[in-house]
Amino acid sequence: MQYITELAQKYNFPEWVIIVTPISLFFMIIFIIVLVVKILEPKYKLYKKDIFHNMVWQWKYKGENIVELWCYCPVCKSMLHVDDENCRTTQNLGDKITFFVCDKCDEREVGRIVGGDRKYALSVIRRAILANIRLNTYDIYKEV
Ligand SMILES: [Zn+2]
Repeated sequence: MQYITELAQKYNFPEWVIIVTPISLFFMIIFIIVLVVKILEPKYKLYKKDIFHNMVWQWKYKGENIVELWCYCPVCKSMLHVDDENCRTTQNLGDKITFFVCDKCDEREVGRIVGGDRKYALSVIRRAILANIRLNTYDIYKEV
């Protein structure tokens, strides 16, 4: 405080200027850094939802990786639950089916992915997302 008073007297500034200036400079620099990071971010990082197999899928990015990928009901937007029980009892890939069910819409089957369990289903969707990014065929403004 002593130092600030001395500075204020030396340069004939009000004390509040000497306190507020560095703080506002600090926030301005943070703001500019955030802005530059946003501008330099690849455009595909805005691609965070889409419709595959008639379901709404949403995800996030952690670095280059797709994380927190999950599906939602296209009607009521609630999270779907997965039924892949049948995958344990059969070895035949064609018989392995993951069902996606909406609890809110009377346990209605919203979609299904044939060929494996939930892990397989998520990898199918992940590959579809990556293909869209690679081929630049995604639309960040699409209504889902
Ligand atoms: Zn629903």
